Amino acid sequence: MSAKILVVEDEGPLALLLQYNLESEGFLVDLLNDGDDVHLYLEENQPNIIILDWMLPGTSGLELCRRIRANSKTAKIPVILLTARGEESDRLRGLSMGADDYITKPFSVPELLARINAVLRRSNPQSIAEQLMVGDVELDRTSFRVKRGPREVRLGPREFRLLEFLMQSPGRVYSRAQLLDSVWGQNVYVDERTVDVHIGRLRKALNRGKEIDPIRTVRGAGYSISDKD
Ligand code: CA
Repeated sequence: MSAKILVVEDEGPLALLLQYNLESEGFLVDLLNDGDDVHLYLEENQPNIIILDWMLPGTSGLELCRRIRANSKTAKIPVILLTARGEESDRLRGLSMGADDYITKPFSVPELLARINAVLRRSNPQSIAEQLMVGDVELDRTSFRVKRGPREVRLGPREFRLLEFLMQSPGRVYSRAQLLDSVWGQNVYVDERTVDVHIGRLRKALNRGKEIDPIRTVRGAGYSISDKD
């Protein structure tokens, strides 16, 4: 499981507790504590889900939720609102602003995890599926194995992550910068040509003889994986 979660929460201890527990579950977690930082973050990142506290310094969670829904680039990212308010009218306000779910503080971590997994299953089944399939390429996240048809494909850890990431959204084109951020991590400074080197290794491992190359190079844009030519 490698879904990325943005947690926006200004209560430090709760934010750290969430980060610790979510990372132990295998999620990648980014933390923000000010509502005003969310816009810039979303310009550069595509989390799979956003956990949003309602009462924040800067822009409120409710207003952020409305803006996330109004922007076509972020409209599809699921949002779970956290709040100390427990009134039914607040719940309805949160949901009417486009939140996918709503949790009242205090909540238990297992309860939040269950909600996150339910929301992810609905919005992007591929981000938590144990097996990913694109055409005849099959990737198993639990055993770290890749097969092309009946043939076992041996990949290095970086090529595995690269393939896993591409397979989460077949057909979607990712730039080299996006692939670096998502597969190598945001604070790693490596040349974008590194991506080309690893894509080259991935292709060599995946394609034998007359097999069709499932990885598509889109000139000037980046790479994608597809089961169509
Ligand atoms: Ca708060």
